[in-house]
Amino acid sequence: MDDKLLSGLKKIVEVSTDEDILDEFSHDASLFEVKPQVVVYPKDEKEVQALVKFVETNKKDHPNLSLTGRSGGTDMSGGSINDSIIVNFQKYFNAAPIVNGNIATTEPGVFYRDFEKETLKHGLIFASYPASREICAMGGIVNNNAGGEKSLQYGKTERYVKRVKVVLSDGSTCEFKPLNQSELKKKMELKNLEGEIYGKMFALIDKNYDQIKKAEPQVSKNSAGYFLWNVWDKEVGIFDLTKLWTGSQGTLGMLLEADIELVPIHKHREMMIIFLKDYSHLNDVIDIVLPLKPESFESYDDNTLKLALKFFPAFAKLLGTKGIVQTAWGFLPEFFMLVFGGLPKLILQVDFTGDNPDELKQKIEELKKKIKPMNVKTRAAIDDQERKYWTIRRESFNLLRNKIKNMHTAPFVDDFVLKPQDAAQVLPQIASIIKKREGFIFTIAGHIGDGNFHIIPLVDIKRQEVRDAIKPIADQVYDIILKHGGSITGEHNDGLIRTPYLEKMYGKKIVELFEETKNIFDPQNIFNPRKKVGGDLDYAMTHIRTSW
Ligand SMILES: Cc1cc2nc3c(=O)[nH]c(=O)nc-3n(C[C@H](O)[C@H](O)[C@H](O)COP(=O)(O)OP(=O)(O)OC[C@H]3O[C@@H](n4cnc5c(N)ncnc54)[C@H](O)[C@@H]3O)c2cc1C
Repeated sequence: MDDKLLSGLKKIVEVSTDEDILDEFSHDASLFEVKPQVVVYPKDEKEVQALVKFVETNKKDHPNLSLTGRSGGTDMSGGSINDSIIVNFQKYFNAAPIVNGNIATTEPGVFYRDFEKETLKHGLIFASYPASREICAMGGIVNNNAGGEKSLQYGKTERYVKRVKVVLSDGSTCEFKPLNQSELKKKMELKNLEGEIYGKMFALIDKNYDQIKKAEPQVSKNSAGYFLWNVWDKEVGIFDLTKLWTGSQGTLGMLLEADIELVPIHKHREMMIIFLKDYSHLNDVIDIVLPLKPESFESYDDNTLKLALKFFPAFAKLLGTKGIVQTAWGFLPEFFMLVFGGLPKLILQVDFTGDNPDELKQKIEELKKKIKPMNVKTRAAIDDQERKYWTIRRESFNLLRNKIKNMHTAPFVDDFVLKPQDAAQVLPQIASIIKKREGFIFTIAGHIGDGNFHIIPLVDIKRQEVRDAIKPIADQVYDIILKHGGSITGEHNDGLIRTPYLEKMYGKKIVELFEETKNIFDPQNIFNPRKKVGGDLDYAMTHIRTSW
């Protein structure tokens, strides 16, 4: 950034050009590395407005100037990195959320772990927290449409965002919330950018209504593209731009505040573990489990379990207070299986929660009875057993990230969604594509009840043949997913890696509507370029990190 521009920027906001800071903000939890020119730390709404105005004014002479919002910086798709100005919301936009009834009003930089501390005081929880709950923040949760282990029962973030306060591309602040038809009409009459956005977005959606509704992926979770199909409900007459904002990866503006709906915590829990030696019974088990309406239905494979056993001391530590010997005792059956053979191919976890313990016990009994004829192994988990299975499921990705020397996680087919019943057929096909390549160690873990799977290979990213294999693997895997009517991302969103595949997923016409949407909100492409629209796979591939 030239000196004049930089000194102009410094007049309106706290700026860092420190090399260590730029290096830190060149990365998120993705496979990519893009160095920003500066990182800025706005203190309040006025500074965010001034920042956007500054870019808007200087964009003509500096076309590459842009703003990329960042909260926790744990995005796995490259969503929170870019080559111009990174706007850090963690430093100042982190006031404790205000809980009023079942709504929590939050700033974007509030870590989920702190957000939850406040909501728990009211016996309430945000039901779509992601597995990264200890390290991510509310701004990223809203902008990625995050999901998690409870999404099977509760749905994703999009269901809980009730209002957003944002700064638009002209530097003005506005609030989006659900509007009835007369409220919408009033908004469309406004003689400002907000009014223009309402008018143009309504026209775009209304004109292409059937096509847009048809484009909605028919799987239970989706974070790909702009969710145009959720905005205008003709039947009930509600037009709601929070539905478009959620999951838009900061490409439409800067998020300042959000109202998030909370749900009561259930008092009781019962859990059943099901061990499958191959995929042959998977569909039958899914058909039995889902109608019982578990809160979560999760899975991981034999490689994940092997890893947990291999790095057992690290796991024992994660499990907390008990001594390592006692913890090892709990894992004894798995150690035996590892040594003498017979580790299951898939481990399924079914969690029932509710306020009536007898009802939950009944569900477990019913599940046992229905599964019995299949002759598959099951175990009702009590106390610490429950924790050990959850820890393996939650920590498998972190273990991969931290434990294997000189090998690094490479999320690029990390979050696809299928109809759960397609998993038994499709997962082995995907595994065989990756297995064919040398240098890719991988586990399969995911939300089987939603058909949402995480494959995050472990690689030595410095090896050229590994780098060269990433695109062909992604091409083949996404072809298979899309052939089965799936989504390329259920939670982690598009970012650098998946934006280029959106046309494959939705077709040309819908991608044109995404482009028009972006243009309505952000005609100068100020916010987070190359994400959601204008994706460039070559750019992504040439920005794969070279070191960790
Ligand atoms: C170990 C691990 C496990 C994970 N598990 C899950 C999971 O279970 N489910 C899931 O959904 N995701 C998961 N993720 C991905 C990621 O953690 C989540 O999507 C999370 O919600 C991102 O939050 P963040 O605050 O870190 O976002 P960031 O990385 O800061 O940002 C995410 C996106 O939002 C935009 N953004 C952030 N703040 C603003 C703002 N104020 N204004 C405008 N744009 C903004 C960014 O530009 C970026 O595009 C995981 C990641 C890791 C590393």
